[in-house]
Amino acid sequence: MSYRPNITNVTKASSNDKEGLYEFIIKLADGTECRAFYNRFPEWKMTNISRLLKTPCPVCRKDFICKCMEAFTADFEGQMLGNEWIDKAIAE
Ligand SMILES: [Zn+2]
Repeated sequence: MSYRPNITNVTKASSNDKEGLYEFIIKLADGTECRAFYNRFPEWKMTNISRLLKTPCPVCRKDFICKCMEAFTADFEGQMLGNEWIDKAIAE
């Protein structure tokens, strides 16, 4: 069975509005938390995503750093924009 991230909450961790740079903490339904960096110019684009080391990776089960989440960048980006997580996070 292949893994699919399911975003349940997004909060803004930091931002540089002038440069259009944003850092978000993304919570997933399975308890995984990720840190994602975005550049909004010329359009919203995820530039980096990594798993916070609070829980083991749901893909490879490692409890230290891994790059598994990078494989789901398109999935994350689709949910972030499609479900308006970014709009909600930056409005707070
Ligand atoms: Zn992993």
